[in-house]
Amino acid sequence: MQRILERGEIESTDHTRIPRVQLPDSSSVFVDRAARLRQLANDHTLAGYLNLMAHVADAQHKLLGTVHLTPVPTDRLERAQAHGMPPLQAVGWQRGAEWLEVLDGLLKHLLQVQPPLPDAAQQVVLGLRQAVATNPAGLEELADDLLAERDQNIDTAAAPFVMAALQVYWTAMAAHFEENHLPVVSPFGVCPVCASLPVASVVRVGGARDSCRYLCCSLCSTEWHLVRVTCSHCEDTESIAYHRIEDGHEGIKAESCDKCKTYRKIFYQEKDLHIEPVADDLGSLALDILMGDAGYMRASGNPLLWQDGAD
Ligand SMILES: [Zn+2]
Ligand SMILES: [Zn+2]
Repeated sequence: MQRILERGEIESTDHTRIPRVQLPDSSSVFVDRAARLRQLANDHTLAGYLNLMAHVADAQHKLLGTVHLTPVPTDRLERAQAHGMPPLQAVGWQRGAEWLEVLDGLLKHLLQVQPPLPDAAQQVVLGLRQAVATNPAGLEELADDLLAERDQNIDTAAAPFVMAALQVYWTAMAAHFEENHLPVVSPFGVCPVCASLPVASVVRVGGARDSCRYLCCSLCSTEWHLVRVTCSHCEDTESIAYHRIEDGHEGIKAESCDKCKTYRKIFYQEKDLHIEPVADDLGSLALDILMGDAGYMRASGNPLLWQDGAD
């Protein structure tokens, strides 16, 4: 007689099960981003900015191993489990002052690159170094605003560097997080680890994730699965359309939703193995202009490029 399998047994025997999350690999996340930014910078109208952000990613990689992690308190993990909440939720997190050391290290790195940064960038970096020494409270406030996506009246020139330091801090935590501590169900549309918004999504190739679409966290670099042809903002499946630049890169599209009138980019790794969500999003701003003209709003921004929301 055939025995009926318990739910857990069915899952454990199903080897084709799609991995729900992919926590960041600290050995490669910022290395891959730096390489991709440099590749995209070739012949690009935004070459200067992409190269600057490549230096930022180099520094992020160097600093990632220096973050001293304190274990997440057990009661916090239990609370997150009980309420289905992201355990390392960025908004309201008591950051250790060491994220400011990461920021200082990143700025120091940028002042040593050759050839030196353009004057305007150099001034921003010097100003931020001064702030680390004399006004850490002001930087904590800016960090709070960025993490909460309050983009009105922020210093848009300083924001990418501050955000880059926060990315190092959260990516270090996420890379050491144990996946089995995640709640079984997480809120829709935000990172299951830190509750930040995704920068874009990627359809992966190879292994258990082949042909599956993953949303990519703008802060902690975790990726999480979302069924394709679904609005990543409002979960609608009825009014989804895909747009791309005529004669542009085949692996870069915008997934729009007519229900909530937003879009996010979707990248297809089968068209380009080296595609990297943060870098390729910056490298395809022409698609954002096209989508804006078509009447769609970006569902969320790029962590390395900020515009004043008051504009
Ligand atoms: Zn995250
Ligand atoms: Zn929608």
